[in-house]
Amino acid sequence: MAPKKNSGGLVYSSGLGRMCPTCSRPVKECACAKKQPPPPSDGVVRVSRQTKGRKGKGVTLITGVPLDEAGIKALATRLKQRCGSGGTVKDGIIEIQGDHCDLLMEELKQQGWTVKRAGG
Ligand SMILES: [Zn+2]
Repeated sequence: MAPKKNSGGLVYSSGLGRMCPTCSRPVKECACAKKQPPPPSDGVVRVSRQTKGRKGKGVTLITGVPLDEAGIKALATRLKQRCGSGGTVKDGIIEIQGDHCDLLMEELKQQGWTVKRAGG
């Protein structure tokens, strides 16, 4: 069965499913996406505030810390003391109660990391 072009430019074939518009191969066999650089675990530490679904002031989240789990936990302990707040570590993400974005960014920069503020 001949492939058909739809108005969006993507090529479909009933036998092969979705086709890659770049290389015209079935998406399963496509290598285009694999050539893309991996998503940023590039040593950039991101600090964001999350209030959604939280009571009160919300929490400050720190993601992308380039340390192992023990290192992240030790860092979290230090940051909690610095903020005078409670917090947890979950799946490599440090969560500090309250809004401490500015303070935490300063602390993280002192580690020599690139720190960016993410989200709100
Ligand atoms: Zn492709």
